[in-house]
Amino acid sequence: MSAKKFAILVIPEGSHRVRRFSVQRSLLNWVACGMVLVLLGLSALVFDYVRTNLDQSEFARLQVENREQRDEMRRLVVRLEDLRKEMVVLAQNDAKVRVMAKLSRPKGDSLSGVGGPGSDDLPQEYSDIQRRIDDLRHQIDLQRESQEEIQGFLNDQRSLLAAKPSGYPVKGWTTSSFGMRRDPFNGRRKMHEGYDIAARTGTPVTATADGIVSQSKAVPGYGKMVVIDHGYGYRTYYGHNSKNYVKVGQRVKRGERIAAVGNTGRSTGSHVHYEVRMNGVPVNPKKFF
Ligand SMILES: [Zn+2]
Repeated sequence: MSAKKFAILVIPEGSHRVRRFSVQRSLLNWVACGMVLVLLGLSALVFDYVRTNLDQSEFARLQVENREQRDEMRRLVVRLEDLRKEMVVLAQNDAKVRVMAKLSRPKGDSLSGVGGPGSDDLPQEYSDIQRRIDDLRHQIDLQRESQEEIQGFLNDQRSLLAAKPSGYPVKGWTTSSFGMRRDPFNGRRKMHEGYDIAARTGTPVTATADGIVSQSKAVPGYGKMVVIDHGYGYRTYYGHNSKNYVKVGQRVKRGERIAAVGNTGRSTGSHVHYEVRMNGVPVNPKKFF
C-alpha cells in the first residue's frame, strides 16, 4: 500500500460512461481523521446526554427520599412529643403521690425538667432528636428513682403500721387508766404506767401489733408477763397473766393469742396490765386504742 494515488471508479448502470476520479492518499487520510473526530464528538454528546438524564432521575429519586425522610422525622418528633406529654402526666402524678406521702420533692425537678424549647417544630438535625430522646431517658431514670423511693417508703409505712400498737389486748372493761393514781395496796399516790383491763381469768390476751416476744416470764409485781418488741421503738407489756403461751424470740402477729388473763403478781383482781413503751418510755396506751 505504498501508492500515492488512488483511482475511484464510478460505474453507472446501463451504458453510461464510467467516471474515474483520482484521489491523493493524503486526502484520504485527512478524511478518515475527520470522520474519527466527528464520531468521537458524537459519542461524547450522547454520553453527556445519557449522564444528564441519569443525574436527573437520581436527583428526583433523592428528592422523594428526602421528603420521605422528613416525613418520617416529623412522625418521630410527634411520637417523641406524645411520650414527653405522657412523662409530664407521670411526673405530675408522681409529685401528687409524693405530696400525699409527705415526701420531699424529687431531685432533678422532673416536672420542669421535661420538655425543652419548641417541641412542635421540625428539628433540623438528627442530633436534636437524639437530644430529645436523651432528655426522655433522663426523665425516665428520675421517675424510676422516685418510684423506688415511694415504694420503699410505702413498705416502711406498712411495716410501721404493722408494728404500731393498735386496739385493746383483751375484751374487758377499764379498771384503771394511765397516769397518777392512788395505789390500791397502800393508798399512796403513784404513777400508773399502763392501762388495766379487767376480764375473767382465762380470757385470751392478744398482741396489739406484729413483733417478736422479748420476755415471757414471771416478774415481781407484774406476775406472769409477756413483752413484745415491735421495732420502730415500740414495745408492749402484758402483765398479771394466768398463763403465757409464747416463748422469747417467737414472732407474733397482731391479734395472735399470747397469754390468758389472770391475777398473778401484785394484783387485786383478774385483769391485764397493758403498757406501751416508746423508746423505753411508758406512754398512754389510750392513744393507740
Ligand atoms: Zn396496771
